[in-house]
Amino acid sequence: MPRDPRYDVLFEPVKIGPVTAKNRFYQVPHCTGMGHAMPRSLAAMREVKAEGGWGVVCTEYCSIHPSSEDTPYAFASLWDEDDVKNQALMCEAVHRHGALAGVELWHGGERPTNRYSRLPPMAPSATPPHYANPVHSYAMDKSDIRAVRRWQVAAAKRAQRAGFDIVYVYMGHGFLPLQFIARRFNRRLDEYGGSLENRVRLAREMIEDTKEAVGDACAVAVRFSIDELMGAHGVTSETEGREVIEMLAELPDLWDVQVGDTGAKDSASARFEEEGWQERYTGLVKSLTSKPVVGVGRFTSPDTMASQVRRGVLDFIGAARPSIADPFLPSKIEEGRIDEIRECIGCNICRSANNEGVPLRCTQNPTMGEEWRRGWHPERIETKGSDSRVLVVGAGPAGLECARALGQRGYSVTLAEAGTALGGRVTREAALPGLASWARVRDWRAGRIAEMANVEVYFDSRLGAADILEFGFEHVVVASGATWRRDGIGTFNRIAFAGADQAGIYTPDDIMAGAEPEGPVVVYDDDHYYMGGVIAEKLRRAGREVALATPATDASTWTHMTSEQHWIQAGLIELGVEVVVTRRLTAFDGEKAELACVYTDRPTTLACASLVVVGARDPNDALYHDLVADAGALAAAGIASVTRIGDCLAPATIAHAVYAGHRYAREFDAPPAGDVPFRRERVVVGAGGR
Ligand code: ADP
Ligand code: SF4
Repeated sequence: MPRDPRYDVLFEPVKIGPVTAKNRFYQVPHCTGMGHAMPRSLAAMREVKAEGGWGVVCTEYCSIHPSSEDTPYAFASLWDEDDVKNQALMCEAVHRHGALAGVELWHGGERPTNRYSRLPPMAPSATPPHYANPVHSYAMDKSDIRAVRRWQVAAAKRAQRAGFDIVYVYMGHGFLPLQFIARRFNRRLDEYGGSLENRVRLAREMIEDTKEAVGDACAVAVRFSIDELMGAHGVTSETEGREVIEMLAELPDLWDVQVGDTGAKDSASARFEEEGWQERYTGLVKSLTSKPVVGVGRFTSPDTMASQVRRGVLDFIGAARPSIADPFLPSKIEEGRIDEIRECIGCNICRSANNEGVPLRCTQNPTMGEEWRRGWHPERIETKGSDSRVLVVGAGPAGLECARALGQRGYSVTLAEAGTALGGRVTREAALPGLASWARVRDWRAGRIAEMANVEVYFDSRLGAADILEFGFEHVVVASGATWRRDGIGTFNRIAFAGADQAGIYTPDDIMAGAEPEGPVVVYDDDHYYMGGVIAEKLRRAGREVALATPATDASTWTHMTSEQHWIQAGLIELGVEVVVTRRLTAFDGEKAELACVYTDRPTTLACASLVVVGARDPNDALYHDLVADAGALAAAGIASVTRIGDCLAPATIAHAVYAGHRYAREFDAPPAGDVPFRRERVVVGAGGR
């Protein structure tokens, strides 16, 4: 299909200093959990973005010197000529598809822990230790400032040698140049402290130095936190954020607008912000400079994108997550395939990968991070290797993705679902507060399956082993999901609480099925991801008195990984949910929940009429076991394999379920993998190694 002319504006070339981007799609710097250690994995992943039509593809934070390093988290680096060679891989890969390559040069000042280099962190003024690192930073003297400027210049020149087209000065996310600007870090009395003019000095010098070093050949971009979203404690767009832009407006070749701090609504998840929510900040920068402006906001709708360009809010559609969920988003708009865009759901599982120090993963795009090590491509897949027919039982995220990807390969697939809707847990959970966009996991797959003549879907089809033996498919995939336990067994409690068979006890499955527990309610969370907090929110909004009790030290504690925890706990407190921490559930009698301190075992009670237990989940694997129990019957029915996938094997996140479905489809009919089923990227000592 031809491109819709309404979106022509998105495909206009834009000049950035001495270079020109072929269109307005700009993959802003984003973490990958690969960094300096995995250059091949990185280059392959970034290449897929360029192939998918992004006009600019950037690195993650790229350290300019060992005094700024984040081990064990995966930062990129340009410390030496070996780094140049590794980074050149990405530049070549991106250039092969006509995109520009950008590098986000980084010095973190007091933020990096320097656990590897063991160099003391430096800052405008000495700062106290972090929670995660009992090390103070020291106050930089003039020679330290001169050194940072020298390192930026040297790294910029290395970046140019590696082939980058856009070189950043990074004054966002609370890093060094921003620390000079922000009063909470800068108590200096010299010409780098005091007035804003003085506090901006280092940023100005770094931009000027970088331009002088590489400005003829490379564009110099600035990523700036115009509002740190911490009120008077940080830079705000009403005051100093705005003034900094006014002071430096025409100095860089491009402004990349960032909002929030690493823990403060940076990459806000869909639970907390809508698509395009940063418009007022981006628009403000745009009104203060004639240079091109990049803005982000989890853009997946081409109408929203085109509207922001036309209304003069921004020049470039910046994206990290939308480019992760669908690296081919620009091509799909260009080719009039809007329906095929795999929209980001705003779950922030991608962020969790970096926060856990592992390669990038994505709920919507199971190929993300697998481009090099498994050779997976987000759009292409091996055509079928046989005429085998496959039955997939269960249309949750695992079954849907499995059926879709097998269908894409050309296999004849039957998808049988017990209920009347597709989506399984995704459909149920999307009805909970703040999770509506999660339905996109279902919708994208349902859309693709609807286009395939070789995939048949049957509803109202709760299959038993006897049915399946009768059908005689050669291969059976059981993706029948999992069920929340009622007895309190979870991460912390490994034995059931007393009174687990009482009336008045509910699970998330009951709540999602429409149960309305009487208040007051205790939600006991020993799962620690989003579910406990979301159920507490739902019940509180329905007017119940709610306490959220957990053995952890804070609500929904794993959401630190998705950078949502602060907002979840703040939201619960604002709603009037009592958050009771470091308590494990010991008993419930219909009138009160008994809890014990996880440190001392000292008992406390919470009066409540109902208890919602958010603990472990049990796989719905009876069907699988019924089938594999009788090998003779399987052989007689012509069934060559029965495989359980997703929550039916090991309950986990939606991302895990999608991945499991995709992996089954990729590996189906493939030669058996070795014990290590993917390529490893690492230094190998010996011939050819060092
Ligand atoms: P996952 O996350 O692993 O995909 P879900 O719980 O989201 O798992 O989805 C499982 C789906 O399987 C649900 O839609 C459920 O109705 C369906 N299902 C479970 N058992 C059967 C069965 N025996 N026959 C057909 N469908 C089933
Ligand atoms: Fe979007 Fe979630 Fe994928 Fe991140 S993991 S890109 S938030 S769908």
